[in-house]
Amino acid sequence: MIDVARARAETPGCEKVIHFNSCGASLMPAPVLQAVKDHLDLEAGIGGYEAADKQRAEIDGLYDSAARYFNCSPGEIAVVENATVAWDMAFYGLSFQPGDRILTAMSEYAANYIAYLQIAKRTGAVIEVIPNDNAGQIDVAALERMIDRKAKLISITHVPTNGGLVNPAEKVGKVARSAGVPYLLDACQSFGQMPLDVEKIGCDMASVTGRKFMRGPRGTGLLYVRRSMLDKLEPPFLDLRAASWTGPDSYELQPDAKRFENWEKYIAGMIGLKTAIDYAMGWGMENIEARVVELAGNFRRKLASVPGVVVRDLGERPCGIVSFTKDGVRPEDIKARMAEEGINCSTSSRFSTRLDMTARDLHMLSRTGIHYFNTEAETDRFVELLEAMRA
Ligand SMILES: *Cc1c(COP(=O)(O)O)cnc(C)c1O
Repeated sequence: MIDVARARAETPGCEKVIHFNSCGASLMPAPVLQAVKDHLDLEAGIGGYEAADKQRAEIDGLYDSAARYFNCSPGEIAVVENATVAWDMAFYGLSFQPGDRILTAMSEYAANYIAYLQIAKRTGAVIEVIPNDNAGQIDVAALERMIDRKAKLISITHVPTNGGLVNPAEKVGKVARSAGVPYLLDACQSFGQMPLDVEKIGCDMASVTGRKFMRGPRGTGLLYVRRSMLDKLEPPFLDLRAASWTGPDSYELQPDAKRFENWEKYIAGMIGLKTAIDYAMGWGMENIEARVVELAGNFRRKLASVPGVVVRDLGERPCGIVSFTKDGVRPEDIKARMAEEGINCSTSSRFSTRLDMTARDLHMLSRTGIHYFNTEAETDRFVELLEAMRA
């Protein structure tokens, strides 16, 4: 159980706004904010390098905290700028031959799909999209039928940017494992709102961001790479953090996932992200997930009772992202109207998830990201305002 009063008391933003944008950037809890500020003060006071020397244990602790969250070892974690860089370091580290098949899904994120298109153009690899089942999530049986010798990568988004769908990541992992096909998971929107155990899921690589449901600082991201996968990836960029210059004609890669990093880091952000992961795990990821699913489920029911509103979330058991449309009212206008009332929500356009939005004939959605610090009173207020909006 989540003590919501305590969660709110520990979230300074809860006094100022109704925040339904944890899928964009969440509200940092006070301990995270304090950790970032303290480190910035230390840097200003004694110098950035000297501050990092003093805080070495906290900085290194990020790898341990992330490893606890993912159920992996600290050496399987790389710390980078954001989820996109994390994902790119994995994807562009793979090599493809003409005819190699990249298997992805309907809800794929634009940045990832653009990268597939570039690599397809460059190498002759082909992109193939796994169809959805009747619930609107990845059809795992169809994926099984798509596996052959030419299937070189399964790369999917766990929770898409545009709705509450949770793809069956574990079932996909079973297929990937039995076929021996590398499996890259974009877990950007699931990180921080549910547990992510890479052993259970069976993914070989996963990318996440700090600022969304994990409630960390902006400008932070992590890449998980399974140890057995390390030597199958050629890091697309190397620097003196990723490798050492061992002789006039030689270099050696870091023995662990740090080979996907680069040297300069947002150190205050690293300490902030460590604090955010510890803070989330202090609540318990199962507890966070249970509260988020309940609150978001109730919100969907309230929304569905508003005339003209259609809830757009797919999947068997949707998560904390709640998406909808209202007849005759533009999502941009809903966002602006809510902002006037101190409520943060967002929109998602076809350009972020083109395959899914085109298949459903959608151009723009209203998108909210509900977290455990939100309340029924807040979602009531939202629904009341939405009801009053006329075409
Ligand atoms: C936000 C998002 C990303 C990108 O994360 P950044 O930290 O902005 O790079 C990737 N995938 C999904 C599904 C997202 O929602």
